[in-house]
Amino acid sequence: MDKIKEIVKKTKCLVLDMDGTIYLDSTPIGDMINTLKICREKGIKIYYFTNNSSKNYMEYVKKLSKIGFYDDRDIVYTSAMATISFINSEFKDKKVYVLATDEVKKSFSEGGVNVVEEDADIVLLAYDTTLTFEKLKKANEMLVRGAIYIATHPDMVCPTADISMPDVGSFIRLLEGSSGRVPDYIIGKPNNIAGREIMRATGLNADEITMVGDRLYTDIKFGVNSGFNTILVFSGETTPDMLKQSDVVPTLTFNDLNEIVKYLD
Ligand SMILES: [Mg+2]
Repeated sequence: MDKIKEIVKKTKCLVLDMDGTIYLDSTPIGDMINTLKICREKGIKIYYFTNNSSKNYMEYVKKLSKIGFYDDRDIVYTSAMATISFINSEFKDKKVYVLATDEVKKSFSEGGVNVVEEDADIVLLAYDTTLTFEKLKKANEMLVRGAIYIATHPDMVCPTADISMPDVGSFIRLLEGSSGRVPDYIIGKPNNIAGREIMRATGLNADEITMVGDRLYTDIKFGVNSGFNTILVFSGETTPDMLKQSDVVPTLTFNDLNEIVKYLD
């Protein structure tokens, strides 16, 4: 109880996974809309952080607003945005071939990435839900010729209400089969690149930021890798039994994030 209170009290920014953590298939978990409202009133900054790079920032703002979550003090952060920061700091001005939807591709250009269609130095694999054989063929040729290879995130599948959809991790396997290459860099959770970016943007210390999520190997591992406190919630993928078998250990566990309200006074 004291440990929970101490960590919640120290928290100035909550980094929230979305599906399984604040909503399930676009339905808020319990009284989550109000829970986030109370957090904001206590001065806690809200970041929504998703590995899904198939939508750009504005598309997420729209989705969250429609469900009732978004407040204009909140920040949406995607693995695509983390990738833009990474390329701008490590590979400024390199020519990048981007596998992504048109909207996300546009956000890469607008973010300062030198997006090209031919003779690229870098192949960037985002969650391209408009992927075609032509794009795969081109990416494969560039990879075989030795281009630097970056993927936005490692997730194998993207959850839906029914059968999960293939995600970037599955496309990584496909390109490994054809080119013999695996990514040189994978940017989203659990990589700590986004964690450094959130610390820089908020000006907060690592122990003032708390990561909340339902997946041990992406969300919680990301928090641990970034030096943040972590809250594993049992409202999504992970069960208490799965946690017992895990070598990734969260700082705290809640049945769902609404429990945080008890510790905010
Ligand atoms: Mg999740």
